[in-house]
Amino acid sequence: MLPFKLIYSDGYYLPIGAHVFPAEKYRRIRDSLMRSGVADGKDFLQPEPATDQDILLVHTPQYVRKLKTGTLSPREEMELEVPFSAELVKAFWLAAGGSILAAQQALTDRVSVNIGGGFHHAFPDHGEGFCMIHDVAVAIRGLQHDGKIRTAMTVDCDVHQGNGTAAIFAGTRAPRDPLPSASGSPSAMDGVRRKDAQAGDVFTISLHQHNNYPAVKPPSSIDVDLPDGIGDDDYLAWLDNALSSGLRQFEPDLLCYLAGADPYRDDQLGGLSLTIEGLKRRDELVFRVARSGDIPVMVTYAGGYAKNVEDTVTIHCNTVIAAKEVFSTKN
Ligand SMILES: [Zn+2]
Repeated sequence: MLPFKLIYSDGYYLPIGAHVFPAEKYRRIRDSLMRSGVADGKDFLQPEPATDQDILLVHTPQYVRKLKTGTLSPREEMELEVPFSAELVKAFWLAAGGSILAAQQALTDRVSVNIGGGFHHAFPDHGEGFCMIHDVAVAIRGLQHDGKIRTAMTVDCDVHQGNGTAAIFAGTRAPRDPLPSASGSPSAMDGVRRKDAQAGDVFTISLHQHNNYPAVKPPSSIDVDLPDGIGDDDYLAWLDNALSSGLRQFEPDLLCYLAGADPYRDDQLGGLSLTIEGLKRRDELVFRVARSGDIPVMVTYAGGYAKNVEDTVTIHCNTVIAAKEVFSTKN
């Protein structure tokens, strides 16, 4: 039995037909974890869908109404890049409920993995890039609303920049406690953009391929714009650097890790060159940093479009194995 919970529902399946997004990956990950003995039935919790009130903590009433009544404009549907249906709306409400549950579980168990979610391209008033509802933002705002956390940090390792995340948390209120001054920050890193001193209650880190979707990248707290084709060692060095820098500037009550599988070298929508082993080392690094800083960490899966779907499933399963290895050890 795992020392933490996995959040999963068959309802995570996205009814989008033949699509580059492998909608069946969630069930395949669950099956693979069970088959390999990494997890058993007792390790899984089934989420409830988020309530409309939860969703409205992030999304505008106009957008939510359009989704519930099926009245997106053709242009809005096109931007979503997945075919709209009432069933699809249900799947996204459920994914958001799963991320809320994962965040709650992380606060008691130190870590929790939503075998879904990570829809980081959703904005308050529209969806895009396969993302209708920003489940991670809904979870953060929900826990803040309930007084369970004050601050959070997103660590987005999907190959695509977290534009929705950056936009949603761009205007957040300043924390009550002053942050360390810029003079305490590390020396300038090439390729890294930092938002000016104005920090909110959610600190956003995105590591992504610069020459990739989205064309317009609203500033995160830390953006690491990676060049095409970089491999494991370079990537891990950048990640280590970004995490250290972020945690020098900000003390999160919760870390939200978006463990995208698409920095993989055989990904159809990515242009980096990480190996399956490198991606597991990436997960271990995030978990070790969270554990040593005593920061609860909730995980969502985000993208993954390997030519061979089995590779995407392996990468996502390895995230659970990495969490097990890091959080099972005594020291
Ligand atoms: Zn992606």
